Amino acid sequence: MASPIASITPGSERAEIAGWVHEVRDLGGLTFLLVRDRTGIVQVTVNRKKAPAAVTAALASLSRESVVRVEGTVKAIGKAPGGREIVPDRFEILSPAGSPLPLDVVEKVPAELDTRLDARFLDLRRPRVSAVFLIRSVVMGTVWEFFSSRGFVNIATPKLVAAATEGGTDLFPVAYFEKEAFLNQSPQLYKQMMMAAGFERVFEIGPIFRAEEHNTTKHLNEATSIDVEVSYADDREVMELLEDLVVSVYRRVADTCPDPLSWLGVDLQVPERPFPRLPYAEAIEIAARRTGEPLSFGDDFGASAEKALGEEMGVHYFIVDWPTAIKPYYAMPREENPELARAFDLMHPRMELASGSQRIHQHDLLVHQIRSKGLSADSFEFYLRPFRYGMPPHAGWGLGAERLVMTMLDLANIREAVLFPRDRHRLVP
Ligand code: ATP
Ligand code: MG
Repeated sequence: MASPIASITPGSERAEIAGWVHEVRDLGGLTFLLVRDRTGIVQVTVNRKKAPAAVTAALASLSRESVVRVEGTVKAIGKAPGGREIVPDRFEILSPAGSPLPLDVVEKVPAELDTRLDARFLDLRRPRVSAVFLIRSVVMGTVWEFFSSRGFVNIATPKLVAAATEGGTDLFPVAYFEKEAFLNQSPQLYKQMMMAAGFERVFEIGPIFRAEEHNTTKHLNEATSIDVEVSYADDREVMELLEDLVVSVYRRVADTCPDPLSWLGVDLQVPERPFPRLPYAEAIEIAARRTGEPLSFGDDFGASAEKALGEEMGVHYFIVDWPTAIKPYYAMPREENPELARAFDLMHPRMELASGSQRIHQHDLLVHQIRSKGLSADSFEFYLRPFRYGMPPHAGWGLGAERLVMTMLDLANIREAVLFPRDRHRLVP
C-alpha cells in the first residue's frame, strides 16, 4: 500500500507512494516530477536512458493532476523538497487528467472565487484551500466535545417545518404533498420545546436556510448553526458559555493545526476572556459618532455601523441590553425596564457571530409578545403548548459556524468557509 508522502525521509530506502502529478519538468535526459498527496510533495526523478521501458512509456503521456502510483528507491538530495527524491522502477498512471485543467492547482495565476467554486474539487487540492476545511473539522469536533463533556444532549430537530420561527420573509417554501412547508430558518422553537421535555442542556449543529435576497460576503442561503439551550440559566450564564466555547475552539486550533494555519498564513491569537460587554445604547452612540449616520435608540446596526463598532472595540465583544422592540418575541424583557431585553449579540470586530437571550418562559407573556410583533399566536400553537404544562426558565444562543471559521481564519468571503456554498446565484455544484 502507498505510504503518506510526508513519511518518506532522506533515510528511507524504498518507497511506494500515490498522488497527483503536481509538476513535470524535462531537463536534458532527466524528467523531474513532483508528486503530491494530502500530506506533502516528493520529487520523482527519471533518467530516461536508464529507466525501465514501462516507466519512460508512462511518462510520455503524462499530464498534470493525473493520479499516479510510484515505487522505487529513495535518495537523499539537498535541492529537492524534503531533501529526498524517488528513483522509480515502477510507475503507473491510475487516472489521467485532461488538459487544459479548469483551474490551475499550482496557482501561478490566482483565480476568481467563482471560477474556484465552479471547479471546487480542484480548488480543494490546494493546501491553502483544504486548510480551511481541515481546521473547520477540528472546530466542529471541538464544539461537539465541549458540549458532550459538559453533559449536553445532542438533538436533531426538523428542517422541514410548517411555520416560520420569527415570521418574516426570508423563508424557502417547499411543496410538501398537498401542503406548503418551509425549510427551517432556525431550530429555535424546537430547542426551546426540549426544555419542556426535561433535557435541560441541549445542543444542535445543523443547517439553517435563509432566503436572503442579497449577495453579501457574510450571508449564505444555507448555513450551519451551532445552537444551544439551557434550562435554569440566565442570559449572563449562557454568554459565559459562549465565550468559553469560542476561546476553547481558538485554543484547540492554535494547538493542533500549526500546518494548516501556516498554509493560510494565519498567526492565530486566542481571544482573552472576558469579552467586553457593550450596552446597546453606548454602541448606538459610538456607531453614530464614528459613521456620522443619524442612528438612535431602536435602530439596528447596518454594515457600516457594525464595521465602525468593530474598529472601536478591536476584539470579540458582546452587545447587551438590546431594545425589546428589535429582538425576537421570545427574548425576555427586563423586569425593571421592559423596554430592554435580556438579549445579546456576540460580535467579532468584522461582524456578528451569534445572537442569544434569556427566553420568555411564561405562556401569557409569550403570547403577548408574539401579538405585539404583529404575528398570529394560532400559527405558533405547537410551540406555545409546552409553555402551559411546566416550562423551566431557560436561555440560549445560535452561533454561525461559517462566520466563526471565516473570522478566525481571516477569510474575505464566507463562501470560502463552505465546500459548496449556496447563494442567490449558486445552486450547482
Ligand atoms: P445578520 O443580522 O448578520 O444577518 P441575524 O441576526 O439575522 O444575522 P440570527 O438570526 O441572529 O442572524 O442567527 C444567529 C447566527 O447565525 C448569526 O449571528 C450568524 O452567525 C448566523 N447566521 C444567520 N444568518 C446567516 C446567513 N444567512 N449566513 C451565514 N450565517 C448566518
Ligand atoms: Mg442576530
